Amino acid sequence: MHIGFIGLGNMGAPMAHNLLKAGHQLSVFDLNAAAVESLVGAGALPVDSPTAIAQGNAELIITMLPAAAHVKSVYLGANGLIAHSRAGVMLIDCSTIDPHSAREVAKAAAEHGNPMLDAPVSGGTGGAAAGTLTFMVGGSDADFDRAQPILAAMGKNIVHCGAAGNGQVAKVANNMLLGISMIGVAEAMALGVALGMDAKTLAGVINTSSGRCWSSDTYNPFPGVLDNVPSSRGYSGGFGSDLMLKDLGLATEAAKQVRQPVILGALAQQLYQSFSAQGHGGLDFSAIINQYRKDT
Ligand code: NAD
Repeated sequence: MHIGFIGLGNMGAPMAHNLLKAGHQLSVFDLNAAAVESLVGAGALPVDSPTAIAQGNAELIITMLPAAAHVKSVYLGANGLIAHSRAGVMLIDCSTIDPHSAREVAKAAAEHGNPMLDAPVSGGTGGAAAGTLTFMVGGSDADFDRAQPILAAMGKNIVHCGAAGNGQVAKVANNMLLGISMIGVAEAMALGVALGMDAKTLAGVINTSSGRCWSSDTYNPFPGVLDNVPSSRGYSGGFGSDLMLKDLGLATEAAKQVRQPVILGALAQQLYQSFSAQGHGGLDFSAIINQYRKDT
């Protein structure tokens, strides 16, 4: 299939590479020329604007952009994808944005005759490179069925979450819980160590008891408990604290719109905001444990 791809950053570039590997033809655009070059080296066709992508032969267009403002500027407006796409061309936004904006863009696409899906991902840059991402998809049944084989070239779990915007709903709910659970594990590990317990032994108990969760058994924030996680390499790589802060902001904003209390989510957002203000936004999000540890 001929696919247009816009946004070739840390996530978009490896996703686009996997589409090429699966045999698709790709037209690509990014504001960053170096990002475009790396895909052209792998066989993609460079295109110089979203308008040109829309006016080309792509049967489907995928975007992977930083935030809602970028998504709106690429899709909406006189030079946007929607204004210039042929009716019937499918649009898939994989960026993580708020559900309200996702629904607004999907509505504009539908009014122009373009089926649209929101399909944010989880799995990080490692999952993007390995083609094992989880896609949380919002849109109609028929559009989901049509997109499924394409998404399967970039991911392992492709989950239909319901109507337009629901992919983003699943994503913000999951990541809010992840932020809260990481802070919970950090607090418990720091408490145990402050009271004299060995971190690895404590994690072993938690991981076979009722406190067990992904933040503890797969991504423990205490250094030395697990190999090959950011806490054991100075909190480098992984999922940046500023990205967690962004997702917690999306969750608390979305909650405000429906007057839904997210008390721990708001607290988690404030903790990561404070951590970022201290200059640690580039560290993996498990580094939040440094706000608690007294043994360093
Ligand atoms: P990134 O900043 O590395 O890449 C974004 C790319 O979009 C950049 O190359 C930038 O030049 C390009 N871009 C920005 N505005 C543009 C425009 N108007 N037209 C064309 N290109 C434009 O970001 P990323 O890490 O790839 O993340 C992308 C999205 O995926 C974000 O919404 C993020 O929250 C989400 N996400 C990231 C991760 C992760 O681990 N990095 C994990 C899951 C979800």
